[in-house]
Amino acid sequence: MSRLRIAIDGPSGAGKSTLGRALAQRLGLPYVDTGAMYRAVGWAVAEAGLDDAEQIVAYVQGLELDVDPDPAGFHVRVDGVDVTDRLRHPDIGRMAAKVAAIEGVRDWMVPRQQAVARAGGVLEGRDIGTVVLPDADCKFYLTSDELTRMARRAEQLGLEEMGAEVVGDVLERDRVDSRRKHSPLRPAADALHIDTSAQTVDESLAVMLEEIARRG
Ligand code: C5P
Repeated sequence: MSRLRIAIDGPSGAGKSTLGRALAQRLGLPYVDTGAMYRAVGWAVAEAGLDDAEQIVAYVQGLELDVDPDPAGFHVRVDGVDVTDRLRHPDIGRMAAKVAAIEGVRDWMVPRQQAVARAGGVLEGRDIGTVVLPDADCKFYLTSDELTRMARRAEQLGLEEMGAEVVGDVLERDRVDSRRKHSPLRPAADALHIDTSAQTVDESLAVMLEEIARRG
C-alpha cells in the first residue's frame, strides 16, 4: 500500500487539496501539493523581478526546491527558506500560472515531482494524471460548479482578499491553465470524474476510496 500513487487533477476550488490531504491521511501516504511547488517558483521569480521567459527558466534552473510531503502540514522550501505561508495571495497564484505555462519551467519541475512520488503518494495538480504520473494506480478528475468553487476559494483566502475582481481572476487562471500549449489542464483518459459540488468531503472521499479498492 505504501507505494500506491494517486493522481488528482482539476480546476481551482474543485476540492483537490482537501480531498488529497484526507485521502493521504487515510491511506498513510505522502501528500504533494504540486500547485504549491509552482507557487513557490512563482514567488521566487516575482522576488527576483523577472519577466522574460528565457531569463525565468535560467533562474529557476538554479533554484533548490524541496518539500515536506506531509498531509498534516505540507511545506515548500526555496533555497532552504520555508515559503509555505507566503503562497496563498492571488498575485502569487497569477505568477504561478505564468511560470507554469513556460515549457522550460515544467521540464525542470516534473522530474522533481516524480522524484517525490517515488515512495508513493497522493499528488494533486493540473497535469498529474496526464504528465507527471501517467501510470498512477488511480486517477481522479475533480470538478464543481463555478459558484461552489468560488465559495471554497473565498473560504481559503479570507473574504477581504476575495473581491469581485479576484473571482474573475481565479476563473481567468483556470482558462489560462486549460488553454496553454504545454501540459494544459485536462482529464486523463483513464481518470474517474467526480463532481464535488453537491457532495460533502466524506461523500467524495467514500467515492475515491471505493474506486481505489476497485482498481486494486
Ligand atoms: O493548485 P494551485 O491553485 O495552487 O496552482 C497554482 C497554479 O500552478 C495553477 O493555476 C497552475 O497554473 C499551476 N499548476 C500547474 N500544474 C500543476 C499544479 C499547478 O500548472 N500540476
